[in-house]
Amino acid sequence: MPELPEIQTIVTGLNRLILHKTIQSFDWNWAKSFFNSEAAVHSALNRSVTGVRRRGKAVLLDLDNGRTLLVHLKMTGQLVVQPPDEESPFPDRSTRVVIRFTDGTTLYFNDQRKFGWVKILTKEELAAQPFLASLGPEPLSRRFTGDHFRERLLRHRETTVKAALLNQTVLAGIGNIYCDEALFLAGILPDRKVKSLSDQEIRRLHRSLRKVLRISIELGGSTRRNYLSAEGVRGHYLDQAFVYGRDGEPCRTCGTPIRKNRVAGRGTHFCPHCQS
Ligand SMILES: [Zn+2]
Repeated sequence: MPELPEIQTIVTGLNRLILHKTIQSFDWNWAKSFFNSEAAVHSALNRSVTGVRRRGKAVLLDLDNGRTLLVHLKMTGQLVVQPPDEESPFPDRSTRVVIRFTDGTTLYFNDQRKFGWVKILTKEELAAQPFLASLGPEPLSRRFTGDHFRERLLRHRETTVKAALLNQTVLAGIGNIYCDEALFLAGILPDRKVKSLSDQEIRRLHRSLRKVLRISIELGGSTRRNYLSAEGVRGHYLDQAFVYGRDGEPCRTCGTPIRKNRVAGRGTHFCPHCQS
């Protein structure tokens, strides 16, 4: 599933490629990917995009009449733009929704597994979306201080630190990849209980989370299988990942083979020497 750096990369690309463009039409071939009433669809036509935002792992396209297209990519979703008069490999068999703009630009929502969706919402409907309302703080925001993180984390004292980081109400946007990477950088084993962490370890984890997210955004995110930027380009973070996807390969710090086990129900990568 795309995580914060992947979604941020898409949002940056969309702001470059579709800002101030006017929606001409929507086409869709899978009702669950585009579950909107006729009136909702109509409310978004001939409206221009005033900004594209991210919240957690969701993409929000704001329109000039106060409505928002809320997009969740879930497992395999993609949002890829085809500028006017340019070639594109899309639409293809995975294309669920096609949004055409009046200048000839096309935005494809592709989703092989069909868990993702696009919803057209009013301000009130957007505010009432339960998963948005319960999201924790943005890890790269200025408000997300070490103390703030500690306070949120310690609400889950009895769980493993990995499970707490994956919990979107603790902080927003972290998934399996950046969780394993940040825990490696912080030198903390993923199956440690939250209550066993020292204040120093929590401070280190806070710094590590922000660091791996920033590195990944610079590298255009991670492509394991499906992820593409709005420009249709793969991300390169995994070429230099510390532990994720590297089981059996030597740790980049100490040379010990990276191990993989299961924590919080997820495949988990760690260095048995660097992390304790
Ligand atoms: Zn190591």
